[in-house]
Amino acid sequence: MSESLPQLRPAVAALPSYIAGRRSSSPNTAPLASNESHFPPLPAVLTAIAGAGARANRYPDMFSSALTERVAEWLGVATDQLAFGPGSVGVLAQLINALCDPGEEVVFAWRSFEAYPILCKLAGAVPVTVPLTSDERHDLPAMLAAITERTKVVLLCSPNNPTGASISEAELIDFLNQVPAGVLVVLDEAYREFGPADALNPVTLLPRYPNLCLLRTFSKAYGLAGLRVGYAVAQPELADGLRKTQVPFSVSAVAEAAAVAALGSLDEVARRSSEVVAERQRVIAAARDLGWTVPDSAANFIWLRTDDQRRLALVDAFDAADILVRGYPVDGVRITIGDAESNDRVLAVLAAHPELRQ
Ligand SMILES: *Cc1c(COP(=O)(O)O)cnc(C)c1O
Repeated sequence: MSESLPQLRPAVAALPSYIAGRRSSSPNTAPLASNESHFPPLPAVLTAIAGAGARANRYPDMFSSALTERVAEWLGVATDQLAFGPGSVGVLAQLINALCDPGEEVVFAWRSFEAYPILCKLAGAVPVTVPLTSDERHDLPAMLAAITERTKVVLLCSPNNPTGASISEAELIDFLNQVPAGVLVVLDEAYREFGPADALNPVTLLPRYPNLCLLRTFSKAYGLAGLRVGYAVAQPELADGLRKTQVPFSVSAVAEAAAVAALGSLDEVARRSSEVVAERQRVIAAARDLGWTVPDSAANFIWLRTDDQRRLALVDAFDAADILVRGYPVDGVRITIGDAESNDRVLAVLAAHPELRQ
């Protein structure tokens, strides 16, 4: 019998640990590290949570039927095109497990969402990263060129976390026209509600591109990050595969009821999102006036590219001002748009540190 203790799979032992946005319980701290909504939950959501909580002794509906029907009606898709999971990160984990055998490749831009390489490695898939362009956008021609016969999935993040750049309708269609039909293109739209109101709704592309899958979440604009619910919109065969790979009951009845309630308050969600957009534009303009280079953002955060030394100093400067932001080794700093007062505090830090501009 072996003397050694139980060992993790090598792929798991070698995983980078997910670095969650830092937290603070102090009311003076501006929590701008995790792209959460700064608005309190919608009143209808709180009511729905209380109602669902009273049934917490029961398992939830395994496939979130009420939410599935509501979203299908809202998006104008069939219910069998939807698959829900514990956040869109949960759905993405299901997706990679459903598609990739060990050694198969997943192409995505870098820097992008830090969950991507972790989910790939966990599934035994090989992450293939393609550097962003110098203006912080996906380099779609280079991503096409990175596709091999081992590629199963291409992940597009639009707007991109953490740079805020979005992929235009023309770029997306051009890309979809060139990707081999056997490669799944996943469009992660976690921040879509903060983009231009007249932006393409990629749901309309699904009939034309059966290898397209959309990922959406209730965590950001809908303010339900703490409840964990997101979904994929795809062809029925893929959605079915996603349901098979779901950890059973991973979307709670509380989360489902809250998401249904949020969809009953879409006007208020839209009003809140446009307030965030207005603040984002104010912050970007003011930071540029202060001499900072800030790329356009279509999300609820802004991006400051810095070298590593300035990155550390800038995060420290924000820490000293009791503002939690997200620093990324080598690349820069991401700052969530909060309420107007928090955003003013961000601008005050930027104004006080011209030596950290880049
Ligand atoms: C926040 C975020 C998500 C959504 O995460 P949830 O698991 O739904 O909370 C997905 N993709 C990106 C790029 C994100 O930034």
